[in-house]
Amino acid sequence: MPVVVTEDRGETEVSEATLRDLLLRVASDSLIGVTRQQNEGEQKQRLHDVVDGTWTKMLPIATAAMMLREVVLKCSVCAYTSVHEGQVAQHTKQVREVGGQHVRARLTQILIGGREPALQCSGCGHPFAARKNQGQVHLTRAKDDSQRHQGAIEEVVMHRYALVEGPPRVLGTRPVMAAAAVRRVK
Ligand SMILES: [Zn+2]
Ligand SMILES: [Zn+2]
Repeated sequence: MPVVVTEDRGETEVSEATLRDLLLRVASDSLIGVTRQQNEGEQKQRLHDVVDGTWTKMLPIATAAMMLREVVLKCSVCAYTSVHEGQVAQHTKQVREVGGQHVRARLTQILIGGREPALQCSGCGHPFAARKNQGQVHLTRAKDDSQRHQGAIEEVVMHRYALVEGPPRVLGTRPVMAAAAVRRVK
């Protein structure tokens, strides 16, 4: 139940309907105001996630304010983010390594339990169901991701959340990985 503060400083519980009536009269009569707690509880804000382009659910104002201050380190060529120094470089190294493993990789047929035919990636040994396209998607992604990370990679220091859609609020960039020594071209 909402709590209101009356002129004589007493607090009293009222129904939602009564509260609405009181709010309509708030400027003109004896009501000083609805308690602060009640007001803040009602205020919500949704934030734009600049990295993946989505919107958050409605958040309490205090939470939203905290998230607006949040800073992440983002990979300059993909949506990878971390809050820890050195992780973007580590991520780049890993993407390049996985790409290297898959340069000549293909899908080979295997039998699981002697009945269900399956496919296995010759690059990393990961098995995939034969009737789905996941194996091919896996190979394509490993190669594409690697291609994208062959150039010099920067760490973008930026705010992850914003009140409106738009370009990210970038605080700075710093190089974390030089271009790969050997460019792997298909
Ligand atoms: Zn990346
Ligand atoms: Zn693989």
